[in-house]
Amino acid sequence: MRIPVIAGNWKLFKKTAEALRLVQELSPLVADARGVEIVLAPSFTVLGPVRSLLNDSSISIAGQDCFWEDEGAYTGEVSPGMLVDAGCSHVIIGHSERRHFFGETDETVNKKIRAAIRAGLTAIVCIGETLQERERNETFDILERQIKTGLRNLSTDEMEKVLLAYEPVWAIGTGKTATDEQAQEAHAFIRRLVAEYFSGPVADGLRILYGGSVKPDNIRSLMTQPDVDGALVGGASLTAESFAAIIHYQK
Ligand code: PEP
Repeated sequence: MRIPVIAGNWKLFKKTAEALRLVQELSPLVADARGVEIVLAPSFTVLGPVRSLLNDSSISIAGQDCFWEDEGAYTGEVSPGMLVDAGCSHVIIGHSERRHFFGETDETVNKKIRAAIRAGLTAIVCIGETLQERERNETFDILERQIKTGLRNLSTDEMEKVLLAYEPVWAIGTGKTATDEQAQEAHAFIRRLVAEYFSGPVADGLRILYGGSVKPDNIRSLMTQPDVDGALVGGASLTAESFAAIIHYQK
């Protein structure tokens, strides 16, 4: 049984007061949520305040990125150890916005995943094709390359600290969601690849989240797909009501 994960990526939104208000509104709405892991990924500057407010809640927090070195002369970077120090248990790595705007590659993704796991974090690794790539029928090739290089040299034990997020780039922030069938087809392909590169048990245990315009009205049917084990949510995680409704998709 794979426990579903619902993760909220706040991107470049929410200063301290707004972030704390969101957590205060969300916490009571999801206090009774069972059988689902909840992760919030605020911006770096509010990780500490959000962590303090969550106190001993079961909601986990994640960085939205990290560097691959523990420390050094790397102005502007944040290390996995610093995320742990700020109270994070997870980190998002390889989000398409980082690949697109900041030159993230499968090689840097691989270094970051390994550093994150070394520091004790769970890595939420984002993969997915652009619209052009889908239209050129390259979706599976792209996913294969991202998995092959991004997860290179990870051990089967390390794979226990990896969550994959299939996020078709054309569905992120666009209001266009992949159909349930498109999501299932990609997730099943990803799981087969992981079985091939690692092992059957690793693939069976791997949580694969779907991301791309997930909303309260499409989460339920996405989650009925056998290989969809949760969601990485951007826009709809920015208000307590919509994120709580997504978390309560089973109701
Ligand atoms: C995301 O940021 O990972 C994402 C999927 O965003 P949205 O839900 O807004 O499409």
